Amino acid sequence: MSELNKKTIAEAARGLEDGDFTSEELTRACLDAMEAARDINAFITETPDIALARAGESDARRAAGNATGPLDGIPIAVKDLFCTEGVLTTAGSHILDGFTPPYESTVTQNLRDAGAVMLGKTNLDEFAMGSANITSYYGPVKNPWTADSGDKQGKDLVPGGSSGGSAAAVAALIAPGALGTDTGGSIRQPASFTGIVGMKPTYGRCSRWGIVAFASSLDQAGPLTRTVEDAALLLGGMAGHDAKDSTSAPMDLPDFTAGLKDGIRGLKVGIPKEYTMDGMPAEIEALWAQGRDWLTGQGAQCVEVSLPHTQYALPTYYIVAPAEASSNLARYDGVRYGLRVPGDSLDDMYEATRGEGFGEEVRRRVLIGTYVLSAGYYDAYYIKAQKLRTLIARDFQNAFADVDVLLTPTAPSAAFVIGEKMDDPVAMYLNDIFTVPASLAGLPAISVPAGLDGDGLPLGLHLIAKPFDEATLFRAAFALEDAAGFDAKPGVGPGGGS
Ligand code: GLN
Repeated sequence: MSELNKKTIAEAARGLEDGDFTSEELTRACLDAMEAARDINAFITETPDIALARAGESDARRAAGNATGPLDGIPIAVKDLFCTEGVLTTAGSHILDGFTPPYESTVTQNLRDAGAVMLGKTNLDEFAMGSANITSYYGPVKNPWTADSGDKQGKDLVPGGSSGGSAAAVAALIAPGALGTDTGGSIRQPASFTGIVGMKPTYGRCSRWGIVAFASSLDQAGPLTRTVEDAALLLGGMAGHDAKDSTSAPMDLPDFTAGLKDGIRGLKVGIPKEYTMDGMPAEIEALWAQGRDWLTGQGAQCVEVSLPHTQYALPTYYIVAPAEASSNLARYDGVRYGLRVPGDSLDDMYEATRGEGFGEEVRRRVLIGTYVLSAGYYDAYYIKAQKLRTLIARDFQNAFADVDVLLTPTAPSAAFVIGEKMDDPVAMYLNDIFTVPASLAGLPAISVPAGLDGDGLPLGLHLIAKPFDEATLFRAAFALEDAAGFDAKPGVGPGGGS
């Protein structure tokens, strides 16, 4: 088996340009790796025929001297929340059974135009609701990492969620990059759990058109890759203004790789004091302190900042996100898409379809959302949450008057065992404690793999930047990645070791 699947996007792009190998060879290596790692259940739908056809087209373009840029011929995995023309799109849900969109999402279309090659559609939590990739109708995804000691040893671990299939595909060296979506942490948290880079751009940077909606005021597409440079390259192919999404920002698309390696001398890094959480594992605390030292060592200046409303972020998110979800998911009625379960009347048919088509977590969110939006509770919950959201965003604005980026841990733990926290939704929701505030404020943020815990499992550090200042975010992340020098790789499956 060729080892081309192990190349990063930047390496593969160079190899293609230099004629060292073709996109077809690169794509075949990724398809072989996909087949060999089927037991991790990273993909819902594999699309080898599409991949090989697009790889062939890319090779032909290149041979004719018409290669489009750094993503031409690069294989990627696509979270199964992006609508893809003619290819089953499930959102991890039974209710979308057989849904084959006749159109392509703007982000995946942008990547097609840039010459990228789709390998398949990756597994995810149902409608992107979750932090462990255990709510998918298509079964859980296994983290390619395994613990080498401690209670988790020998057990299958979650990859994080909801973009767990995308994260696992990148970590297991199936694809050099993958697309995810992040509503409250679904790119960054799985990146942390699988030892890769996961980036959520500023709200509005990528079009949401053709992405199955969860919570529209929070959802953003973003890249999962093995390096910061690759994240910048992949985002460059995804982002851009789109007239079809009224919340897409009418801004020029910068070259996100420009200035990446310029260093962070003089950069001011804020350390939010409210992110020190009771019961935070000592290892995470230590890694965070190490992150400060690494950035300081690279010439940055770290200062303490305060984000006083941080404690309200999680409860605010778990009102706003279910409220929007309950409204967005009203369209799944057995008439327009996917599954229909017959009933004696129209109402019976709706109830039977939604009762059978939605899993437990989705039903919980629809119930919470409908409740907080109902007359009598709207002011007490939804309006209150919107006010808090404004205060949380203002905290960030105030902090960014003094600093350029913020540094926090990505998640409060390493990957946990599949099956854990399933009966305790609140414990599951706590996974997002460090990622949700930036989502509520619409800010760009990135998780960079920074170290291993005592059991040999990866942990990430999280940087947050000002709106539309992805350039500074990437520059700081590159410096952090350089200082951390994380190069551990997973073995696949229990006993695989690292
Ligand atoms: N884990 C969070 C949730 O379940 C975030 C999900 C996401 O970002 N899509 O809502």
